[in-house]
Amino acid sequence: MASEYQRPRNIVIVGGGIIGCTTAYFLTRHPAFNPAIHKITLLEAQSIASGASGKAGGLLALWAYPNNIVALSYRLHAELAKEHDGAKRWGYRAVHCGSVTAKGKIKAPTQKNAEATTDVVEEWKKLPKTSIKSKTIASELPDDLDWLDSDSIRSYSEMGTPATTAQVHPYLFTTSIAELAAEKGAQIIMGAVTGIDKSTEGVKSVTYEDKATKEVHTIPATDVVVSAGPWTNTVLPEAPIEALRAHSVVIKADVSPYAVFTDIELPKNYSASRKDVKKRKHGRSVNPEMYARPDGTVYACGEGDSIIPLPRSSDLVECDESRCDDISDYLSLISENLRNGEVVAKQACYLPLVSSPGDRGPIIGKTGVPGLFIAAGHTCWGIQNSCATGKLMSEFIFDGKAKSANIDSLDPKHVMNMGV
Ligand SMILES: Cc1cc2nc3c(=O)[nH]c(=O)nc-3n(C[C@H](O)[C@H](O)[C@H](O)COP(=O)(O)OP(=O)(O)OC[C@H]3O[C@@H](n4cnc5c(N)ncnc54)[C@H](O)[C@@H]3O)c2cc1C
Repeated sequence: MASEYQRPRNIVIVGGGIIGCTTAYFLTRHPAFNPAIHKITLLEAQSIASGASGKAGGLLALWAYPNNIVALSYRLHAELAKEHDGAKRWGYRAVHCGSVTAKGKIKAPTQKNAEATTDVVEEWKKLPKTSIKSKTIASELPDDLDWLDSDSIRSYSEMGTPATTAQVHPYLFTTSIAELAAEKGAQIIMGAVTGIDKSTEGVKSVTYEDKATKEVHTIPATDVVVSAGPWTNTVLPEAPIEALRAHSVVIKADVSPYAVFTDIELPKNYSASRKDVKKRKHGRSVNPEMYARPDGTVYACGEGDSIIPLPRSSDLVECDESRCDDISDYLSLISENLRNGEVVAKQACYLPLVSSPGDRGPIIGKTGVPGLFIAAGHTCWGIQNSCATGKLMSEFIFDGKAKSANIDSLDPKHVMNMGV
């Protein structure tokens, strides 16, 4: 007998970041999905992966958080990579991961070092990826981590092994997953959602402005998943989601497969090259993260900042190149390979955070309105946790509840009070 969840459905996903795209993918792979009666529409305001999902590091780890979805997501990443040749298609591979403490040494003077004297000291605003201290044991710098200057490194601690840590190229992963969802029937439309018509009975329709034609359309909806990353509360004002900007760079350097978290003590009188805060230098130490990629590059990201509030859309995100220069300059203090490598990308994006005190995010599941779901606030682990989120959203929609993991602690109702 057909279940209540096998009735005709118009499922609308808001946002084409990694969360919206994995949701579309797993809906099309759910055993109950029947393209004859189920319509899946993904609405993306700018382009697929135009926010953090295209500019993140792409680290996957069994030691990430929250622990009720991490293992499921890590396993699903491995399965997807196997099924769709993710190694080739989106750079999936296992990696080593460690943290280093280092004493930065200026080996090639940069312009900023020649010109700057500063007297305001600000501490580095760490992204929350490793704020829960992982168990690490200090050891020798591994022989194959030969792209760090051994005379700068003071200590090395292993955080993960290739059995517990992997990576993807997040832009390639997200766009590939969107293509794979489209191949099985999901429709992807470039358009910004401007309203969701809902009542206590449930959702009725979604209104969007088509990106190309600027025409406004209203489409019927039985189910709506709001997964607009840091923009989630522009679509659902009740959602307690905040945004934090972060800059990153990609440097050409063909090096061994390591993800490295750093704690770099800056040389005396070393000054950052910020334009926005002239009389400023970082405190005693800085903490850029760097991930070697299989395409012969190293991705590195810097600290979070709240200087520029979240703009209306991803195409309006401001990148302060001097913040990117800071990241590559800091890495130059501890790595000859990175010092000599060409910087091929300087970029910025916004991390989605749950603003409710004590909650680290994400929030995944039903709101108080029948048929209205939210999957947002994935903090620093949205790439890692994307597959579990997509899979669980497909279960909420076709099975009525999350089946693959117990995610009661991520229930949106803990942090938002949904009115209509
Ligand atoms: C510097 C940095 C490094 C990171 N590194 C890692 C990492 O190594 N590993 C990891 O697991 N995670 C990492 N993350 C976290 C990860 O990038 C995010 O958690 C994840 O990308 C969030 O995905 P999302 O789909 O929720 O949001 P987004 O990627 O922001 O996507 C939201 C989408 O919604 C669209 N949208 C907005 N408004 C509307 C609207 N009205 N209508 C339609 N569409 C709309 C936007 O255009 C955007 O494409 C990192 C984040 C940052 C900032």
